[in-house]
Amino acid sequence: MPATGQPSVLIVGTGFGGVGVAIELKRAGFGDITLLEKAGDIGGVWRENTYPGAGCDIPSPYYSFSYEPNPDWPMRFSLRADIQDYLRRTADKYGITEHIRFNTEVTAAAFDAEAGLWRVETSTGETYEANVFVPAVGQLSRPALPSLPGQETFAGQSFHSALWDHDCDLTGKRVAVIGTGASAIQFVPRIQPKVAALTLFQRTAPYVVPKPDTVYRPWQLALYRRLPRTQLAERGFFWGLCEFATVGLKGNTAITKGVQWLSRALRNKQIKDPQLRAKLTPDYPPGCKRVLFASDYYPAVAAANVTLETGRIAEITPSGVRTAAGVEHPADVIIYATGFRTTEFLGPMKVLGLDGRDLREHWSNGARAYLGITVAGFPNMFLMYGPNTNLGCGSIIYMLERQARYIRQAVRHIATVPSYLDVREDVADRFDDEVRRRLSRSVWARCDSWYRDADGRIPTNWPGLVSEYDRRTRKLNLADYWVSAP
Ligand code: NAP
Repeated sequence: MPATGQPSVLIVGTGFGGVGVAIELKRAGFGDITLLEKAGDIGGVWRENTYPGAGCDIPSPYYSFSYEPNPDWPMRFSLRADIQDYLRRTADKYGITEHIRFNTEVTAAAFDAEAGLWRVETSTGETYEANVFVPAVGQLSRPALPSLPGQETFAGQSFHSALWDHDCDLTGKRVAVIGTGASAIQFVPRIQPKVAALTLFQRTAPYVVPKPDTVYRPWQLALYRRLPRTQLAERGFFWGLCEFATVGLKGNTAITKGVQWLSRALRNKQIKDPQLRAKLTPDYPPGCKRVLFASDYYPAVAAANVTLETGRIAEITPSGVRTAAGVEHPADVIIYATGFRTTEFLGPMKVLGLDGRDLREHWSNGARAYLGITVAGFPNMFLMYGPNTNLGCGSIIYMLERQARYIRQAVRHIATVPSYLDVREDVADRFDDEVRRRLSRSVWARCDSWYRDADGRIPTNWPGLVSEYDRRTRKLNLADYWVSAP
């Protein structure tokens, strides 16, 4: 542990989480920062998800760092390339890019209590040491493929939506898409006009509501540049709207009924065939799965070359997909839009804390972390976008800024008094009990989704408003921690 007031910080991942915490620390004067990135570029999910139409369903003025408003967003709901450019530019502007080691995947990390150091190993065989370890690897970074009988026998091309095969030309092909979540509803309208036939396999109908998108006009962008408060007002409006929607997700049925009404109105307007409309009607409470914003999805599903198949998939055959009812849908290409392994936080990384305790075992009954940031027995490890910090509605960047602010205070303490901080088990347990209790009353407890793990636990979502998270993470309370000298 250096006595000089410059603890070394090792950050894993360069999405908004990794870059965001690095900026926060650098702005506070902590320069001994290293970011390890498995890929050759920054961007996290915005680098990985390159499927046609990939973009953000949170308005860009809100989906930005608060200290780095961007008057150049081309649209209200920006596409991935613009979001990745913004992150790249911001990382350059704050001098973060030079701290990044690309093509360096972390495989393991272990805490050495005597030295007060984390030792981090990479797939290239290197070892890094740091006083502070910040995994910022996201919740939606590990694609989930279903295990369907016969999958390996398929003779055509197949890929996951997050690993889009751009060499595979879909023009004139028969395409099967499995899944109807946030990813599918963005790319289905883009590929539908060019394919010969599209079979869309829907297991559960999503709630789809209109997307109030707009291409910003030159005068609007000029206004944002001249009077930044006008863009701030738009940010504030969507912040407020999401807080309002979250009251519904927490259990207020009057609000969720509004979502139901909006979705029904969109279906009635865009889907003329009553049978198709019935198939597209969800049968679970709104918000339980993520509500999707799209004004072009239903028209694409209603197009003449699209078949919506709601029967259970029995197997993949060499020539297509067969349902349990024995209907065979021939396909040249299968696209799995089947989501991510969201409940395996930190993915394949092996993380050992005090006395060699394994984080995977510690989380064998579900991932948990105090304020989504610290884990008892894993001192000086601070998570970005950790357990229970995801949102049903809202900007994750807002949450990441709160986590970065909290971590900055911890690093400041460590810089002042060389030490390691280990969250007290009773504090962490009490917090987790509260989160479980509150989530059990939320709408997310009422159906299966990627928010829940196989045991029905919800390790992903924050149970309250983002304003509550802001308040509770504003000040690091040292009384919540065992503070030890190495
Ligand atoms: P997802 O929401 O988890 O959707 C996966 C889809 O695949 C669901 O429709 C699911 O059906 C279906 N599925 C999974 N396994 C299946 C199987 N064995 N057979 C048939 N169907 C199966 O995944 P996603 O669409 O990739 O989105 C994940 C999350 O990423 C989003 O909720 C969102 O938070 C984020 N995302 C965000 C944006 C954005 O604009 N901000 C865009 C894309 C993604 P069930 O519903 O029945 O499980």
